[in-house]
Amino acid sequence: MTLGNPLLRQRSTPVEVFDASLKELCRDLIDTMYFYRGVGIAGVQVGELKRIFIIEIEKITDGPMIFINPVIEKFSRDFFRMQEGCLSLPGFHYDTRRPRSVAVSFYDTDGQKHALSAADYFATAIQHEYDHLEGRVFLDTLTVSEFKKAGKKLAEAGMVYDLDFPARKNKPKKEKA
Ligand SMILES: [Zn+2]
Repeated sequence: MTLGNPLLRQRSTPVEVFDASLKELCRDLIDTMYFYRGVGIAGVQVGELKRIFIIEIEKITDGPMIFINPVIEKFSRDFFRMQEGCLSLPGFHYDTRRPRSVAVSFYDTDGQKHALSAADYFATAIQHEYDHLEGRVFLDTLTVSEFKKAGKKLAEAGMVYDLDFPARKNKPKKEKA
């Protein structure tokens, strides 16, 4: 599913039941990721608004890694730039700037909790996929001028970048007393 589909702008909901159908969904995600030769995929990209993503990076992950109900516990203060792409934005690649390392906790398909720290490429992939669970895409990390260039190309490709997407308004706000 590509940019312009409103599902990509929705927040995914936590997985509550760790059963056989969850494992099946994860297998489906892995197959889809392999089919499109991606290094990561999130549930929403196959139309499942569940907090799940998969990442497989050669020499970094031990095969496809499944992250269920992930929480990014810590971000480093220094940044890392790399070129990102997305299965939902076929043919588009842009340099992004994100925190260089993250600490993340997550569950596996058996409901066991895990935690890890990641840096550079792996950390970028985790943040990219995590963003999908929040209704964000990697273009949202670009600066205004970078985005202007990207927006024109997207429009030419017939993809709609919804600048005023709801996720941007969902950023954590201070509760009013
Ligand atoms: Zn993506």
